[in-house]
Amino acid sequence: MLQHKLITLILVIGTYSFSFAQEIDSVRLLQHVERLASDNWSGRRPHRDGHLQAQNYVLQELSSLEGVQPLFPEYVQHFTFFHTREQKNYDQVANIVAFVPGKSSKKVIVITAHYDHVGIGRPNSEGDSIYNGADDNASGTAALLELARYFSKNQPQHGMVFAAVDAEEMGLRGAKALVENFPLPLDQILLNVNMDMLSRSDAKEIYASGTYYHPVFKRILETLPTQIHSQLKFGHDIPGTGSEDWTRSSDHGAFFEKKIPHLYFGVEDHEDYHTPRDEFKRIHPQFYLGTVYLILDAIRALDRELLDEE
Ligand SMILES: [Zn+2]
Repeated sequence: MLQHKLITLILVIGTYSFSFAQEIDSVRLLQHVERLASDNWSGRRPHRDGHLQAQNYVLQELSSLEGVQPLFPEYVQHFTFFHTREQKNYDQVANIVAFVPGKSSKKVIVITAHYDHVGIGRPNSEGDSIYNGADDNASGTAALLELARYFSKNQPQHGMVFAAVDAEEMGLRGAKALVENFPLPLDQILLNVNMDMLSRSDAKEIYASGTYYHPVFKRILETLPTQIHSQLKFGHDIPGTGSEDWTRSSDHGAFFEKKIPHLYFGVEDHEDYHTPRDEFKRIHPQFYLGTVYLILDAIRALDRELLDEE
């Protein structure tokens, strides 16, 4: 079993390193997911075991990149919030934020992914009580770390803010704190690209939600090269469609409330969503890598094409 998995992994990595000349280091990408979603970090719930370790890991990874700058002291935006249902104040929550300056525009693209999850809960029938949150959202956090590495070496036209945000699962708290105290004027934000749940899809489909509000993004994304293992779909953004409308479903919702354009990349809910079975061993590596390359292509195209419209 292990051997079989290893061979699959080597084949996957071989394919991608050959065709993309390692623009994204797939080994490192998968290692981030495995690390963040390990039992040691207990589901990364704020104020519980493992959360600060995960926070520190993200901080080390982002701040050690050459060519990134802090927008908050030491790359950390501390914030607090009061949780009404728990009657509890949360004061050990923080967004980790790194900035890559742009070549030719004052406007910035803000890339977000939440690194928190829901912690430890009721054991399932298998006796597992750790909600690892591999897909939700170690997958998005790992993608954010490697996209930051890519753009720190390949300077974009627009500035890029990479924000690993906290306490999404408690009501988009980190993203709300970020837009409330953003270190630049909000009208300097060209768009928010949010990533939440990138690594599992039986149908091999990744959604880009938000183009209902911004058809120009759809026109740009439609020109991207296709990926064999991940198919880009549009939708889940039509007002009045209830839970099928994802406009407020994750951190991009905080940007939407401030009338900042957004694009959200994510998969449809799967059977292990918010259960102890959302584990590293159950992600789909080929689909995940294809998706991350697709998002890299999307960001590069938006960075290039939107310049003409400014
Ligand atoms: Zn999530």
